[in-house]
Amino acid sequence: RNTVDILGVPVDKLNMREAVNTVTAFLSKDKLHAVYTPNAEIMMEAQRNPYLKDILCQSDLLVADGAGVVMASKILGLGLPERVAGFDLIKNLFAETDNTPMRFFLFGGKPGIAEQAKKNLLENYKNIEVVGVRNGYFNSSDEKEIIEEINTSKADILLVALGAPRQEIWIHEHKNLLNVKVCIGVGGSFDILSG
Ligand code: UDP
Repeated sequence: RNTVDILGVPVDKLNMREAVNTVTAFLSKDKLHAVYTPNAEIMMEAQRNPYLKDILCQSDLLVADGAGVVMASKILGLGLPERVAGFDLIKNLFAETDNTPMRFFLFGGKPGIAEQAKKNLLENYKNIEVVGVRNGYFNSSDEKEIIEEINTSKADILLVALGAPRQEIWIHEHKNLLNVKVCIGVGGSFDILSG
């Protein structure tokens, strides 16, 4: 990995195309890969929260979602090529299903939002597969069932939209139980996709 250190967090030096290629390469490996796209606010929160910082440091791919992070990198001469926003990354992955088959599971958002996002995705991307959806409002007693639902769906890519940094913490704390190849924290993306 070619990364730059921004406030103690390794950020991958990749443009959008390279980030998409990195994620599709993860699909052929036999382990779960955690992908985070923190904005400047989360990078700052990680300065105050060592647990969050540690989680970000343990990613398999971390790209800079936010003009601020890329601008800081330019000023500091660290050489991040461009902003790779989480929402743009997943849109590029959806489009990439024309070349590479990928099964998505949408986890998060208010009840009905992920279902509607799925419907819109199926209308917009002819080769996309969405093998499961689940809203993001649950108790810890529901987690076993949620993990089972994700694992039996045979999803390759789990999109987790619980808001930052809750989604990063959730991915980190459940990655040993999940049988997917890639987990991506995607913030409020389903709210946009369902519109
Ligand atoms: N959310 C959720 N469960 C929760 C809290 C939030 O699924 O317990 C969802 C919420 O419905 C929204 C997303 O997480 O879709 C958070 O979006 P927001 O834009 O606030 O997050 P950000 O992109 O800033 O991380």
